[in-house]
Amino acid sequence: MSVKTIGVLTSGGDAPGMNAAVRAVVRMGIYNGFKVLGIHKGYEGLLHGDIEEMKIRSVGDIIQRGGTILQTARSQEFTTEAGLQKALSMSKIFGIDALIVIGGDGSYRGARDFSHLGMNVIGIPGTIDNDIGCTEYTIGYDTAMNTVLDAIDKIRDTSYSHERCSVLEVMGRHAGWIALNCGIAGGAEAIVLPEKEFDIDKDIIFPIIEGRNRGKKHYLVIVAEGVGGAVEIAKCIEEKTDIITRATILGHIQRGGSPTLRDRVMGSRMGAYAVELLMAGKRNRIVGLQNGALVDIDIEEALSMKKSIDEELVNLSKILAL
Ligand code: ATP
Repeated sequence: MSVKTIGVLTSGGDAPGMNAAVRAVVRMGIYNGFKVLGIHKGYEGLLHGDIEEMKIRSVGDIIQRGGTILQTARSQEFTTEAGLQKALSMSKIFGIDALIVIGGDGSYRGARDFSHLGMNVIGIPGTIDNDIGCTEYTIGYDTAMNTVLDAIDKIRDTSYSHERCSVLEVMGRHAGWIALNCGIAGGAEAIVLPEKEFDIDKDIIFPIIEGRNRGKKHYLVIVAEGVGGAVEIAKCIEEKTDIITRATILGHIQRGGSPTLRDRVMGSRMGAYAVELLMAGKRNRIVGLQNGALVDIDIEEALSMKKSIDEELVNLSKILAL
């Protein structure tokens, strides 16, 4: 069956650049003769028929906006067999032939289950965490890192003035990508990643004391959310080094803000690519970036792919922290 009507939704955690992807799906879709329906609040909105037809102007003036105009939600009901059947029946009522899901791997698991009932699903990676195995890049990652970097620069100013140590906890769920890159870009003394074992004395306290002996005036430790415990780590640093240490947990500020150029362009490219996949008759694919080029991967295979942290960057971060 050829696709005539595309549904698009954003699911899981929001990410800056999702709007660029929605806009691209809508405009590329309409340009190529599809009817495009915007589904509000992720799978929850699909279950309840919170759906509207999107026009070219529905996505005007959104490319620069953070968050997602379609809004997002986490739906418990959609994870059940009854929920999936209800979503299928609602899709039939609205005539949805294919569903484009912008979200993380939890959203793909939902999409995969939905595909087992016959829906054609296409996934676009949208999460600040960059934790999806089949792609080098996820929409929102660049903006989140720039937000963290801006915070690091501000914290550095006050940390220097008072000769203090700052411990900054950043997002990323179980992945350390944001922490690693922002640690390097922000000149951190130590970066604590969920992918790496760490010993507080060897990996944090010693580099700080060594740095002090070499004349450093301030110290920055980045802790990934997947490790957590920034407050406890700060306390331990202060006790062991006598350097006044403050913990900052950046939190949801990292999810907001106007998307960077990279997120707008990646969102636009991935959104358009998803529509092209449907035009090519493809079914149940995830859009990804591999070696800098857009690719599409079977959803089952995509879900089985693992991503490991970049060891070269980890080593570089240690050398440059000297
Ligand atoms: P982020 O990485 O930003 O949190 P995500 O897409 O991984 O995004 P989740 O909350 O894990 O976010 O998933 C979003 C939605 O996908 C869930 O609310 C649920 O409705 C659906 N979902 C998640 N896991 C499953 C699953 N195993 N089966 C069916 N549906 C699922």
